[in-house]
Amino acid sequence: MFCQKCGKEIDNEAIICVGCGCAVAGKYAAPATPAPQKEVAKSVNPALVVWSWICAVLMPFISIILSIIGLSKYKNASGRGSFVASLIASSVYFVFYLIFIIIMAS
Ligand SMILES: [Zn+2]
Repeated sequence: MFCQKCGKEIDNEAIICVGCGCAVAGKYAAPATPAPQKEVAKSVNPALVVWSWICAVLMPFISIILSIIGLSKYKNASGRGSFVASLIASSVYFVFYLIFIIIMAS
């Protein structure tokens, strides 16, 4: 048979072409693996980001939940940073609210 890469005549049982060193497409050649599908980077739902930010100011506790939902829902999506940022912001607000409530209650 002939090498498919360089065209050199090689032994029928050859695994590697003596001409170019490539694996020969024969019965010993590694089966052609389909090219791994490129994972399409989905984008985060902008509405969820907006809501998590609105809630960060008004209802920090809800925003924390929204941010966690966003982070777990969009594991490999672009724009996750906004959820991280809103999670941090809402956590800070949450602490402020807690302090405020404690001061008011005492
Ligand atoms: Zn070859």
